[in-house]
This record gives sequence, C-alpha cells and structure tokens, in this order.
Amino acid sequence: MSFLSVLTGSFSAPAAENPTVTMIEAAYRHHGLDARYLNCEVEPEALGDAVRGARAMGWVGFNCSLPHKVNVIQHLDALGDSAAVIGAVNCVVRRDGRFIGENTDGRGFLTALRTVVDPAGKSLVVLGAGGAARAITVEAALAGASAITIVNRDPARGREIVALLNERTPARAAFVGWNGTYRVPDGTDIVVNATSVGLAPDLDARLDLDPDSLRPEMVVADVIPNPPRTRLIRDAADRGCPVLDGLGMLVNQGVLGIRYWTGIDPDPTVMRRTLEEVFMNVAQRS
Ligand code: NDP
Repeated sequence: MSFLSVLTGSFSAPAAENPTVTMIEAAYRHHGLDARYLNCEVEPEALGDAVRGARAMGWVGFNCSLPHKVNVIQHLDALGDSAAVIGAVNCVVRRDGRFIGENTDGRGFLTALRTVVDPAGKSLVVLGAGGAARAITVEAALAGASAITIVNRDPARGREIVALLNERTPARAAFVGWNGTYRVPDGTDIVVNATSVGLAPDLDARLDLDPDSLRPEMVVADVIPNPPRTRLIRDAADRGCPVLDGLGMLVNQGVLGIRYWTGIDPDPTVMRRTLEEVFMNVAQRS
C-alpha cells in the first residue's frame, strides 16, 4: 500500500477559469488512479520557482497555459520534436528524471479532426495566427496537409507562421491580411477558427467572415471550447458543413497528457461529458 499520490497540474495566470482540472480529475477517478491535478495560479516571475517546485515534489508532469507556453522552455531539459518546431510547450513530461516539453494542442486538434477528415493532401484556411493557430498548422503540415492559408489581422504574426511552415514543413503556406469581410475560397477543404472570437462571455460574437462562402463540402472546426456551439459552428451547420467544436481539441490534448504522465489510455467520453456539464452549469448561472 502507498499513500503517495501521482502529482500533476497546471501553471497559468489567470487560472480560475481554466476547466481542465475537472476533466483530468474525472478521468483519474474513472480509471481508479491515485493521481491529483492541481490548478495553480502562477505569475510570470514565479514560473521558474514553480517548475523547480514541481521537480522537488516529484511531479510526473504538468500543463502550461497562457502566458507561460514559451517562457517555460528555459526551465526545461529538452523539447519533443513538434514542440521544438512550434516553439511553445503546453505539456511537460518527466522522463528519466528530466522535464521534457511537449505540445499537445495541435495533436489534440488533429485527433479530433481525424474523426471527420484526414488532413493529408487537404487544403486548410486557418483564421488567426496566435499560439493555437501555430500548433494546429504545424501539426497539420507534418500530417501531410498540402496547402495552408493563414488569415490574420496582424500581418507580422501571420507572416511569421507562414515562414515557419514553409521552412520547416513540407506544406505550402500563404498569408492573407484580414482587412475586411473574408470569403473562404472555393476549393478549400478545411476551415479552422483559431482566433479567440466567440469565447464566453461573448457568445454571439461573429467572425468578420461571409458565412455564405462556407460550402457544404468544407469541414468547419472551431478551437473555442466554451461555448461548444459557437456562432461559426451554427452558421456552418446551417449550410450543411460537417462541424467540429473546440471540446474535441481540449479533450484530446488532455488524453495525450494523461497518457504521457500515467501510461494509461483514458476514456475521452468521460472527459467530454464532464466539460459539457461544467459549461452547461456556467451557462445556466449567467
Ligand atoms: P493568442 O492570443 O495567441 O491569439 C489570438 C488570435 O486571435 C490572434 O491571431 C488574434 O489576431 C486573433 N483575434 C483576436 N480577436 C480577433 C478579432 N476580433 N478578429 C480577428 N482576429 C482576432 O491566443 P491563442 O492562439 O493561444 O488562443 C486562441 C483561442 O484558442 C483562445 O480562445 C483559446 O481559448 C483557444 N484554445 C483552445 C484550445 C482547445 O483545446 N480547445 C487550446 C488552446 C487555445 P491578431 O494577431 O491580429 O491580434
């Protein structure tokens, strides 16, 4: 018998609105694991101490969320392959006593995407050029996507990702400035909203995008997990497009984290149901 729990958690600021702890601990309970996930508020200047604390206490790993995904790298021992290309870490894993930085955001998105379409040989339009867009486009390119168009307001951020994709992956990437209502070009296979537009509490926020340019043959995905049925998802479903909500990405990056930390393959349906209940309770209260 052991009274020593496996320790994991998350470092971010602000941390209070991050629901990941509920989904991970639901999986730990469901699988009978003696493991804990601590949601920790860590300010940027305390990040190094937090990582040293995790080492000292024998944590098997942790997630990093905003604003730590890039700065955590200096406190780690090495990076996994895609985290090195993406240049950001959202999941740290202890291997042979060393903390290794991984990026599970993009892979979580791809696992969810593959339930609808395989990105190999497909053309993607990705709206946004932040951390989520970077992780998604690098993984999609490494998975064989043929063409990727980044649409963003800030051209510097958009061009930086395009250069990264063209230099480090086999995909062809191009940048389009977002200066007015965007029309998705005919022939696009997959459209992804990787901006923060639509996140609660701004439930009806609409992207500056012509919804009539969404064709029924296009798969439309949103990274926004809360609410799962964003305006974009509703507009796309109304036009007959197969749709994918942001819960799929959130759940599947959590699945990858638990697999890294504990070696077990958690049941994603338990994790998704927990998040749906959390978001439903939040919506009922507001
Ligand atoms: P960043 O802050 O790095 O990037 C935000 C992006 O959104 C930028 O490209 C920004 O454009 C764009 N943007 C913001 N407001 C607007 C607007 N009004 N019109 C057009 N573009 C806009 O954030 P992240 O990339 O880290 O996260 C983006 C979203 O993804 C968040 O809402 C987050 O919750 C979600 N996410 C979901 C995950 C999941 O598992 N489902 C995982 C990770 C993130 P510009 O550069 O021009 O300012």
